[in-house]
Amino acid sequence: MFDTLKDLLPWSTSTAAKKETCCACCGNCCRYFGGHLHTSAHDIERWKREGREDLLSRVNRLGWIWVDPVTKQLLDPCPFLLQADQQRWICSINETKPDICRDYPTIAHEFRCLSGGFLKF
Ligand code: SF4
Ligand code: SF4
Repeated sequence: MFDTLKDLLPWSTSTAAKKETCCACCGNCCRYFGGHLHTSAHDIERWKREGREDLLSRVNRLGWIWVDPVTKQLLDPCPFLLQADQQRWICSINETKPDICRDYPTIAHEFRCLSGGFLKF
C-alpha cells in the first residue's frame, strides 16, 4: 500500500524499488546526448567570468554546443568526453560543464539516466 501521496507520483524516489545509485561513468548519456546540447545564460556568464574562450568559441549564435570553433559545424559526439580507462569515461570539463549536463537526469527523464539508475550525486 502507498504510505504517502508522494509514492503515487511516477518520479517519486521514495519507494524501495527506485534505489538511488551513483554514476557508473559508462559515458552513455554523453555519447547519445552530447551532440545535441544547449547552453544556458548562466553557462555563458560563467565561461566569460572564467575566461573560457575555448568553450565560448564552441557555442553557435543560437546557443547550441559543441561546434567546431572554425567551421561552426555541430560536433557529435561531445569533444570533451574522455576515456579514463577500459571501463570508465569522464567529462574533461567537469568543473564547468554546461548546466544541461549538470542537471541530468531531470524530471523529464524521471530522474533515471540512460544506464537505468536513479542518480545520487
Ligand atoms: S549518468 Fe548514467 S548513463 Fe551517464 S555516465 Fe553516469 S551511469 Fe552512464
Ligand atoms: S560536456 Fe561533459 S558532461 Fe556534457 S556531454 Fe560533454 S563530456 Fe558529457
